[in-house]
Amino acid sequence: MAQQTQVSRVVLYYRQWLKKFPSFSVLANAAPSDVLREWSGLGYNNRALRFHQLAQLVSSQFHSRLPQTPDELQQFPGIGKYTAHAVACFAFNAHVPVVDVNIRRILTRHSKKISSVSEMLSDVDAWKFAEQALPKRNAYDWNQALMDLGGMICTARNPNCAECPVNSTCASAFSKTFLQRSVVKKRQEPSWKGIPRRIYRGKVLKLLHFHSLSAEAIAGLLWSTYGSKDIAWLSDVLDTMVRNGLLTMVKKKYSIVL
Ligand code: SF4
Repeated sequence: MAQQTQVSRVVLYYRQWLKKFPSFSVLANAAPSDVLREWSGLGYNNRALRFHQLAQLVSSQFHSRLPQTPDELQQFPGIGKYTAHAVACFAFNAHVPVVDVNIRRILTRHSKKISSVSEMLSDVDAWKFAEQALPKRNAYDWNQALMDLGGMICTARNPNCAECPVNSTCASAFSKTFLQRSVVKKRQEPSWKGIPRRIYRGKVLKLLHFHSLSAEAIAGLLWSTYGSKDIAWLSDVLDTMVRNGLLTMVKKKYSIVL
């Protein structure tokens, strides 16, 4: 839930979710439409479906107990290398490195003098460096400390090198010139009529919670006026949601997956 959604927003959903789905087996036996309903409002709804599939696998193949090693965890839908290592370390106290975007930034800056704020080690190099740098004990504390360092001191745009505990060994320490030279372009979110597409996807799921509707009917509920271009754009969004496994379409009417 906390991937790409702020923790302060996640907390309420998390508690509610655990009440509704207190175990992997309960979640595994729920209908996808129920799972999407509980997730509604958190965004990036594919995460809910992947989590549901994960629960079904854990329930049917692992006696409802989540495996604990990164290699095993990465076999599940929706779990990449970062999540597998983070779960293994923070939930099961495994002695493994974790590389998220903050940690990768620190490793990059520490290992070489960078020339732009967006410069990052390759995935392979970042993980290799993280393996080498991992102390012999206390991987949990180490990884948490690196995350804090990236979140509070070695921030993307304004590193506070004077307060940084690794400034004596960091190749980019006090090298503020890279910041002046670079302008970070913010990625434009796909949107229509000034509203991000992900907001429309959330609204569509809400509208379809209890009804099957055509693209035209959905358009009528989303906008007071609309034209053929709006319908074409909306149909594209709806068809993508069908391909993503969030919706089904029968006789030109869209429904939430059952
Ligand atoms: S010394 Fe500066 S650039 Fe290096 S890790 Fe610390 S805050 Fe980041």
